[in-house]
Amino acid sequence: MSRPSTYDAIVIGAGPAGSSVALTLARHGWSVAIVEKRAFPRRKVCGEYISASNLVLLDRLEIGDAWRMNAGPEIRRVGFFSGETCVEAPMPDAKYLPSAKDAFGRALGRDVLDALLLQAAQSAGAAILQPCRAVAIDRDGDMQRVRIQARDENSGDETTTLRAPVIVAAHGSWEPGPLPSQFEKISRPSDLLGFKAHFTGSSLAPDLMPLLASPGGYGGMVLADHGRLSISCCIRRDMLARLRRNRSSGHDGPTQDGNVSAAEAVFRHLMASCRGVSDALDGARLDGRWLAAGPIRPGIRACYEQDIFRVGNAAGESHPIIAEGISMALQSGWLLARELAGASSGREGREAAGRRYQAAWRGLFSTRVYAAAAIARVALGPAGPALMAGAVRNFPQALTLGAHMSGKTRPVPGLT
Ligand SMILES: Cc1cc2nc3c(=O)[nH]c(=O)nc-3n(C[C@H](O)[C@H](O)[C@H](O)COP(=O)(O)OP(=O)(O)OC[C@H]3O[C@@H](n4cnc5c(N)ncnc54)[C@H](O)[C@@H]3O)c2cc1C
Repeated sequence: MSRPSTYDAIVIGAGPAGSSVALTLARHGWSVAIVEKRAFPRRKVCGEYISASNLVLLDRLEIGDAWRMNAGPEIRRVGFFSGETCVEAPMPDAKYLPSAKDAFGRALGRDVLDALLLQAAQSAGAAILQPCRAVAIDRDGDMQRVRIQARDENSGDETTTLRAPVIVAAHGSWEPGPLPSQFEKISRPSDLLGFKAHFTGSSLAPDLMPLLASPGGYGGMVLADHGRLSISCCIRRDMLARLRRNRSSGHDGPTQDGNVSAAEAVFRHLMASCRGVSDALDGARLDGRWLAAGPIRPGIRACYEQDIFRVGNAAGESHPIIAEGISMALQSGWLLARELAGASSGREGREAAGRRYQAAWRGLFSTRVYAAAAIARVALGPAGPALMAGAVRNFPQALTLGAHMSGKTRPVPGLT
């Protein structure tokens, strides 16, 4: 077995949360390793919209210019599509930003965004171990050991052990696993499963991001980079099972178990239950395959527990109905790195940094998590889509207000 390698911090996961914290710590002179199980570039279930409030942070992370160059058009209108209802309203702008051309959010494919961030972390000095899966964490005095496995085509899995006093869990929340910061496997009828696809040749207005409400689920559409439309949604497990059974008794091609594929059932459900979706995708072409993930785990968790710091979805997750998960991931990584870089050495210093980080996390994100949960509860209720459609038809400004309350214009502390 190879000898352990020692770092100041080991970050598990190279999504926006992991790369943001690794990059910032590396810039503060820390020796950092990022362990990521997937090879990049990789696509990911995500709507890919990023609020304008992150622009100052993206500049600080030195990927702002690349983001501006690659991302899709400015999103100046927020919409609502459900049944025959198609309503739109202005997106609130982040007026405090130094340049008016940065006042609106845009979407960038996660294959591009995550690779840009990881590259920036590497340029800042972080060591990248990829594709490598973290499979265990255990204590070793004042240090912790992380066991990682790299898949070797010839010799099978190769196991190595890394050591560091600081472990950052940035592995997201959608996969169960053996790490103390990961979740147990669940399977309940009310679970929300995530789906996403790219299409080219859509006719969605380039500056519009509609929220989609359909029976048993919610989602969104937005034009991202390279003319790709990103469509993503969450759907209840029991609704998905019903759709797959119903479809298999119709004319859609069944899978081996007699049901249609989950992606096909979701796509047809969205097309049938939102006229805005079928209009926008009329004549459009699927670009790549549909992706699935989940169940998602909305909620607020401990930011620091058993000497492991959590960032991004691992620390807390808002229902993606408000499209703020990337913001929370980037910003929580930044908040944690700021606290750690200023902490005194030793376990007491780390614990104090953990408490300050948790307070900052809750101050910045709790309202978003609760607001998203309230909107999702209405959307997923039996009469939810009809209720929401009635409300926004009479009061379209509710869409602007909702976008504002979800944190889309809230500055990142210490960066304005
Ligand atoms: C349907 C849907 C639509 C969404 N739309 C939007 C949107 O438009 N805008 C928005 O801001 N947010 C959106 N989100 C939320 C957003 O995708 C997440 O909040 C965000 O990806 C969280 O980032 P993260 O860095 O915490 O985790 P992730 O992006 O999940 O990254 C975690 C990384 O860790 C790696 N990993 C996992 N386990 C291990 C391991 N054991 N060892 C090594 N590596 C590991 C994974 O491969 C992955 O690369 C959406 C979510 C869903 C479900």
